[in-house]
This record gives sequence, C-alpha cells and structure tokens, in this order.
Amino acid sequence: MNRLTAVIATALLVGPAEADAPRILTDIAPIYSLVTLVVGDKAKVELMLDKGQDPHSFQLRPSQARALSQSDLIIWTGPQMQPLMEDLIATYDKSTQSLALLQSQGTYLRQAEHNEHDHEDAHEDAETANAALSQDAIDPHAWLDLKNAQTWVQTIADRLSTQDPQHSAFYQTNAKSAAVRFVRLDAEMAKLLAPIKNKGFVVSHDALGYLVQAYGLNLVDAVSTIDAQSPSAAHVAQLNKAFVNQEVVCFFPEIGHDPKLGAQLANLTGVKIGAPLDPGGLGLAPMPDLYENLMRQTAQTLRDCLAE
Ligand SMILES: [Zn+2]
Repeated sequence: MNRLTAVIATALLVGPAEADAPRILTDIAPIYSLVTLVVGDKAKVELMLDKGQDPHSFQLRPSQARALSQSDLIIWTGPQMQPLMEDLIATYDKSTQSLALLQSQGTYLRQAEHNEHDHEDAHEDAETANAALSQDAIDPHAWLDLKNAQTWVQTIADRLSTQDPQHSAFYQTNAKSAAVRFVRLDAEMAKLLAPIKNKGFVVSHDALGYLVQAYGLNLVDAVSTIDAQSPSAAHVAQLNKAFVNQEVVCFFPEIGHDPKLGAQLANLTGVKIGAPLDPGGLGLAPMPDLYENLMRQTAQTLRDCLAE
C-alpha cells in the first residue's frame, strides 16, 4: 500500500473525523479511482454502485439515495451509461453540482456498432432514427481509452479547483502525475497487446470497443450488446457462424454477465475460454490504483489466452 492509498483508505474508514470534508459521489469503480487519484485526502469520495451491481441497470436503494442527496459534487460517467442517474440528479436538484465525464470537453467518444438496432431502425422514419442515434449510438465505456483518462483527471482537477481554490495546486499536481503514469501505461499495454493483434476473440458483453480501437485488436463479436441486452436470434446465428468458421481464438466471459451462451459455443467448437474480463472493475477493491490495475489486468487477460 503506497502512501496515497493509505491516506484514502483512512479517509474512508474514519467517517466522523472527516465530517467537514466535502463529499464527492461517483457512480462506477473506474471513475471512483480516477477521482480519488486527484482529490487525495481533501474530500470524502464515495462509490455509489456496490460490488457486483450492474452499472447499466442498477436499482436505487435508500442508502444510495441518501448518499446522492448529501453529496457536494457528483462525478459520474454519463446518461449513456446510466439513464436513471440523470433523473436522480434532476430530482435531487444537483445538476449544478454534477460532472458527467462523457459530456465533458475533450472526451473522445466512439459510436456503438449497433448489430442489434440496425433492423429496428430500418422500420422507423429517418428523423426518429437519427434522434435515437445521437443518444444511443455512443459507447459509454470510454474510460477504457487511456487518453480519455488523461483528459478526465485534468477535467476533475479543474472542476475541483473551481469548487475548492485553496487546494488547487494539490489537485493539479495529482492530475499531472496521474496523466504521466497513464502515458507510460499506454506504452506498456501497446507492447503487451502487439503480438495478439490478429487473434480473433469474442467477449461476453460489448464493453471493450475503446480498448480494441486504441490497440488495433481483432474483436470478432460480443454476445450481449453495449447496453448489456441479450442477443437476438439473428445475432446468435451470426455468433455461431463466427465460432464454427474458426474466426475465434478465445471467448472471454465478463464478471457480472452470464457466460452461458458464449461458453456453450466455445465448447461446441473447441474454442478456448479465457479468464473473465472485468472492464468495470466490479471484482476489484475500490482503491485509487483500481483504474490502472483494471487496464493492466484487461490487457494481460487478453494476452494470456490469445498468445498461446
Ligand atoms: Zn457495460
């Protein structure tokens, strides 16, 4: 445990002593990690989702509603990830005290590929389809791009500096040193993933788009969609074809998602099953270094199965 980790762990455990510290609420584990890297011990950072709770469709419990109503600042992914959060922020009148990172300046957003919706959209008139596209077509898993993480720690530092100018230099220094580490991690991951660029793989849930794009990987398909919906019959047929045609070297389950269909296809066709991916950090302890661990671990999991 490094010094910063120790400070944060203490801050979380010693609630009463920190009673006057501002309370920052975050939605998912990777965002929690990025925020704690910047704020250090200057605020009490809380993680809204419990371990294992699905970020795409979570139900609000009373304790979570209380945390939301008592927070001084909400730093969260964005409505493309959690439509419910946007309503809650409005309900609790927190819109001026919230920062949706997907909507913040300089964020790189990729379009979702939409293998499910294409058919449905064809039945709508063009105007409706476009309106739906502008919201739905964004892949919300944008933290899986290290350049976004670099941008976001700076965005978080700037926001905190406005809110708490007294500690501005501290926030800025923390953001800079995190960004430097992210650049190094990016190079490390590029090296780790270079030998497996051409190896086809299928994931349980379509969360890895940013990472696949950043390192030029060969993602063949995903069992469930970007917003974690089950595949249609046509999509199952398409998946089956990819497995049968030997386009797939590994199938990767994902923590929090049902691995059954992918595992069945893999077993029927002799495709290897990799260790479970955890792009949301659901299985990791919420610590400041969670983000860097989850990126490194994702790359290593892909490499371990695909390089053999
Ligand atoms: Zn997801």
